[in-house]
Amino acid sequence: MPMFVDHSPPGQCIFCRLVAGEIPSAKVCEDELTVAFMDIGQVNPGHVLVATKRHAVTLLDITPEEAAAVLQTAQRVARAVQAAFDPPGMTLFQANGPVGGQTVFHFHLHVLPRHEDDGMALAWPRKEPGPAVLQAYAARLRAALQDG
Ligand code: 5GP
Ligand code: ZN
Repeated sequence: MPMFVDHSPPGQCIFCRLVAGEIPSAKVCEDELTVAFMDIGQVNPGHVLVATKRHAVTLLDITPEEAAAVLQTAQRVARAVQAAFDPPGMTLFQANGPVGGQTVFHFHLHVLPRHEDDGMALAWPRKEPGPAVLQAYAARLRAALQDG
């Protein structure tokens, strides 16, 4: 379980204040829509967060332009992490909602350098419900895509 959860009101959250320069950060780079800075809690050296500049809580709240910009910044940062820290692996992690593991409710993506036995864990209790169920799930999603 996370040790820290940000309960600040929207617009006054930690990352809004960080974007506004009201609290210090170790900034890596920024563009019109995104900012990348060192996570205060480094899972491994070089652990960066890429956040939207605009306050938006989850993946469902950002615009397609912000989504594209976030991944472009993440790729740029990942190349820099590879060059500067040379980790043998890298994981992108993005949490939505408390149940999804989100503790700061302002959209961000983790760029996480990975090492052998580094203690980072995400349980993955996979099930194989079979082809009929998979087809039914896909049909539900195709219908939802049409409705949206
Ligand atoms: P989440 O659990 O929401 O995906 O991740 C939130 C992250 O924000 C955590 O990894 C935490 O260490 C980081 N964090 C929380 N407060 C601050 C802060 O004030 N400055 C920075 N740079 N990172 C923070
Ligand atoms: Zn915010």
